[in-house]
Amino acid sequence: MADPTVPADSTSSYPLSALADKLFERMGVDGVYARTAIYVDLLERLEHYITRQRDRNAEVMRFPPVMSRGQLEKSGYLKSFPNLLGCVCALHGTEASIRSAVELAESGGNWTALLSSSDLVLSPAACYPLYPIVAQRGPLPRGGLTFDIEADVFRHEPSLSLDRLQSFRMREFVRVGVPDEIVEFRETWMARAPVLAAELALPHTLEIANDPFFGRVGQVMAVSQRQQELKFELLIPYYPHAAPTACMSFNYHREHFGQTWGIRDERGGVAHTSCIAFGIDRLAVALFANHGLNFKNWPSVARQALAL
Ligand code: 5GP
Ligand code: ZN
Repeated sequence: MADPTVPADSTSSYPLSALADKLFERMGVDGVYARTAIYVDLLERLEHYITRQRDRNAEVMRFPPVMSRGQLEKSGYLKSFPNLLGCVCALHGTEASIRSAVELAESGGNWTALLSSSDLVLSPAACYPLYPIVAQRGPLPRGGLTFDIEADVFRHEPSLSLDRLQSFRMREFVRVGVPDEIVEFRETWMARAPVLAAELALPHTLEIANDPFFGRVGQVMAVSQRQQELKFELLIPYYPHAAPTACMSFNYHREHFGQTWGIRDERGGVAHTSCIAFGIDRLAVALFANHGLNFKNWPSVARQALAL
């Protein structure tokens, strides 16, 4: 993983520090940034470019940054990544008890000790809320379903690295269907992604990968995930000789979500699922890092792809 640290000292010679100052405004917490106009301009063009790549039958859905805590628990997230989860807390209770928390805050006390969890968590990936929605619809139609989804997601990983944000945008193409449809979907996208990277004039490699499962048991899960080739990533270096950053991932969940939510495929079997995730912020930073801040100087293929 690259370590394009955003130094507190903006005069630093670090390769990406000048970029960070132009693309982001600091918000007082590491890994959480306001996006500037030039960045938003590119983000919108990148989103349009990705829209042009989606399956004609894809159903579009956009999710808020929060989702049901119960649904995420049922998905098994706590077994895999408990350290990354953010849970929404609030002041519950009577007017008097809420007022006492405010008074505690005003006197400099630890008012947060009076918070308790709500029924929401911050979504850690765009696709978790999708599967229960699909399940509610009953058995899958012939040919399964394809979705284009997006959410601003949260992972509790404070960092100074420009590619390790706590809050970032994730776009996904998700396929739900019979196993061979799902395998073909992922393979098709793994073949297409390098073509897209070439159109964006980004150096890239496609590699087998694993999720950062928590703890010692997690190490075993990671080995098993690699052995079964369930995750690949498109890696892009931010500058020459930098360790590359994962900007897209190609995930095969097998029957995990189908089983969890009782999704039946057209043959009555347990549905399989796959998601292709575009790390929108990582792709945007990769574009600026490789091509600079002046769109006019970008390679013509990339300008064409992004309508610059
Ligand atoms: P995954 O679910 O595979 O971990 O994440 C999907 C995609 O989201 C990754 O391929 C990557 O592009 C993006 N992503 C993951 N973690 C981070 C992060 O900490 N910061 C940013 N900006 N993007 C991330
Ligand atoms: Zn996903």
